[in-house]
Amino acid sequence: MTQFTDLALAKPLLRALADEGYATPTPIQAQAIPGVMAGRDLLGIAQTGTGKTAAFALPILHRLAADKRQAPRRSCRVLVLSPTRELATQIAESFRTYGKHMGVTVTVVFGGVKYGGQMRAMAPGVDVLVATPGRLLDHLQEKTISLEGVETFVLDEADQMLDMGFILPIRRIVKHIPRQRQTLFFSATMPAEIEKLGSEILGPDPLKVSVTPQATTVEKVNQRVLFVEQPRKRALLAELFDDAGFKRVIVFTRTKRGADRVARGLEQVGVDAAAIHGDKSQGQRERALAQFKAGEVRVLVATDIAARGIDIDAVSHVVQYDLPNVPEAYVHRIGRTARAGADGSAVAFCSDDERNLLKDIERVSRQRIPSFDRRNDRQLGAATAAMPDVGGKPERPAQPHRGGHQTKHNRNHAGGKTGRERQEGQQPRSAGGGQGAAPKRSSGGNGGGGFKGPRRENRGGVWSNH
Ligand code: AMP
Repeated sequence: MTQFTDLALAKPLLRALADEGYATPTPIQAQAIPGVMAGRDLLGIAQTGTGKTAAFALPILHRLAADKRQAPRRSCRVLVLSPTRELATQIAESFRTYGKHMGVTVTVVFGGVKYGGQMRAMAPGVDVLVATPGRLLDHLQEKTISLEGVETFVLDEADQMLDMGFILPIRRIVKHIPRQRQTLFFSATMPAEIEKLGSEILGPDPLKVSVTPQATTVEKVNQRVLFVEQPRKRALLAELFDDAGFKRVIVFTRTKRGADRVARGLEQVGVDAAAIHGDKSQGQRERALAQFKAGEVRVLVATDIAARGIDIDAVSHVVQYDLPNVPEAYVHRIGRTARAGADGSAVAFCSDDERNLLKDIERVSRQRIPSFDRRNDRQLGAATAAMPDVGGKPERPAQPHRGGHQTKHNRNHAGGKTGRERQEGQQPRSAGGGQGAAPKRSSGGNGGGGFKGPRRENRGGVWSNH
């Protein structure tokens, strides 16, 4: 098996890798590093958790070490674009970690903080700039940052950029980068628009590397789906935490307000929780992450976008309070646990209204997610004690959906109240589009005929309404 020492990386990098205890490259690293070291463009189909950050950071740092020179003032030699502040911060950290024995200068630029510090940091010119698109574009327009010195351009999480409406800003930014450059393009998925963007900004013959961690990630995670009526979710979540095994847990919600509500509800039953999403200030997000990493709060409640790229080891459980509208997000979410070779557990709540989402998820992840089975799932102990055996398989087929036609639109409205809120990062939908859908739906899955969920009284007062 290839070792880092076989890859002819610069000595300071090998030392830093040894400090980290990394000896063996991950598949994407083994496939990408030699080509990128040689200056080739790269199209990498990979998601977080595959080691893709080091797959680009190491060969880039190697090239910087081999050719030391000062970046032009207000500019950089390497530009990495990242969709979120958290991911940008983590990428910068990785560059600092791997580059610590070679004196590399790294700056991060993102929105939500003052401009002054970013301008001062950029003034002398830096080796590596990691930026989110919106703020970088502001700096370019104000001429407080220039991209004239860029030799290597990395676009990370391109599909996420698309979801967040960043494609136009990216096209504008690319116009500021010299054509003569190395380009590394990463995306977890390759929808047509992303393929087009890739072909626009990559050179003619990029090295293509595709790693599909889904299978391995999915296999390593002990997954269960819990069928539960929408109004019971809050109580069920609280009950999960009666189990001490739920040590370090990420709970996913579809909306920002949902994340706040769930975190507040947990706090009310004595479970320390913090929410992170796009409406939180940078300081709040960093504090929440630090507390979670330090074990001061047991639960991080997050939206998909806020959680994307967050790298926290030893997450014991991932709970999907709402199923995601986009089936691929299910796999991203469960990938937050079972990191670095560890096993992890993932629990997905599925209300009546979410059954079609579950079907999509099973189709896309090419698996049947087992439902809770009391005989085998002791770790869910208290919370599920009163659930039917074998997880309460639906007594009726999941299709057709009781609410009539489940269109893409009303899928976004699954989940009762939270359905009316916009999913973080989504553009507002056309007004009125969903108005016909709501009355057709049964409210919260309480209608007659179907599976009734755990036959247990809702412990009134456990979660106060707010
Ligand atoms: P990434 O996909 O870049 O988010 O990396 C996922 C995690 O894997 C991070 O915690 C990295 O520090 C870690 N990692 C990256 N490369 C290696 C490696 N070769 N061996 C062990 N861990 C690694």
